[in-house]
Amino acid sequence: MADNSCAKCGACTSVCPVYQVTGQESLTARGRLHLLEKIADDNHSQAYLDIFSKCLLCDACHQVCPRAINLPTKVVESRLNFPKLTGHGSFAQSLVKGCLSHQGILAGIGKFLKISEPLLDKLPAKSGLRLKLGMPPSKHAPRIQQEKIIPKQSSLGGSTESVMFPGCLARHLNPNITFAATALISSLKDHSPPDIPPGQACCGLAFYSSGNLEEARQLARLNITAFAYTDAEIIVLCGSCYSHLASYPDLLADDSNWYPRAIAFVERLQESSSLLADQSPLPTVPICAPDRPAKKRVVYHDPCHLRYKPGLKKAPRQLLNSLPWVELVELPNGPQCCGSGGLFNLAHPDLAKQISGKLITDILAVDPDLVVTTCSGCLIQLHQQLTATGSQAKVRHLNEVLTDSAD
Ligand code: SF4
Ligand code: SF4
Repeated sequence: MADNSCAKCGACTSVCPVYQVTGQESLTARGRLHLLEKIADDNHSQAYLDIFSKCLLCDACHQVCPRAINLPTKVVESRLNFPKLTGHGSFAQSLVKGCLSHQGILAGIGKFLKISEPLLDKLPAKSGLRLKLGMPPSKHAPRIQQEKIIPKQSSLGGSTESVMFPGCLARHLNPNITFAATALISSLKDHSPPDIPPGQACCGLAFYSSGNLEEARQLARLNITAFAYTDAEIIVLCGSCYSHLASYPDLLADDSNWYPRAIAFVERLQESSSLLADQSPLPTVPICAPDRPAKKRVVYHDPCHLRYKPGLKKAPRQLLNSLPWVELVELPNGPQCCGSGGLFNLAHPDLAKQISGKLITDILAVDPDLVVTTCSGCLIQLHQQLTATGSQAKVRHLNEVLTDSAD
């Protein structure tokens, strides 16, 4: 029988973003596993809560562990106990505490919410972004009328049907990302413009991260249902959404009705950059900038959940390298976590800032014009942290860059 107990080898310590800035052994996978072994189920101190809330669920430890120990799953399980201990959820509590004790964050959120009020109200009541931004559930949450943003281009024709899961940011706050993806996919040989099923919901990652598994499961069922009218491939625009959607079978493993449906759903998932990079020639559809800009230095930021999947690490770089105006530069210390991690940057703003600080220092060292990624959370975090340094570098989704559809 395979031994899945911790070998204490320490491989996880070399990749853990939290350990790298704190130096605290208790915050590594090895340390947390040791604690889980030693404490009784009902003996959860404030120190325990603190240790298990300070995990980004970035999966880096799991990916390098020679015994394939899935520590992030154990952390989420530990968070299930948080509400029982405190009455209303210590992760949520530390989130609120973190926000309340950091007036700068509160002021920033307040300013952002005020400016973006009309737009943010379009976020559905159960959007993970709504949770991440600390917004109350919307009473109205009108849907963006997709047909107004993304004209149905059925006249372009094509035999390959597909459907799209843009994610909350691309669907509700920055539909330009969805528009760009639609243009790119429509440009592929024999591809029809993808449908965007209106019943789709947030992927549920933010709810899962905070230990709210019931809500996460409910959102998974909603999404599986929303895409059940077709068996076409599901193109996903956000890297973190993609990785969470792919975990639906684990999430619904105990539900005999939904587990087979979750398996079938996951088999249809296709991350957008890998779909595009598989084409020959590689697609480019300049929408707004007919003249190619002068050569620009571009950094690609790997979302944590895709960083250890070789194909998904290679595809965005392949696409960027196909653009004649792009000079792709790698960071001196390689890909790193941005510190966003579900609700982590709200629950632990100082720690998140320290983690993103390492990445931002490396980004500034290569002086890019543009930072590109595919994850909504990373986009927001990188934009906030880079802007705070006074950097002029823009942060954009890969699809916007491939279509030159953002300034
Ligand atoms: S999931 Fe990430 S933050 Fe959490 S222990 Fe593993 S490496 Fe560290
Ligand atoms: S890498 Fe795995 S086996 Fe090694 S110390 Fe970390 S959790 Fe234990």
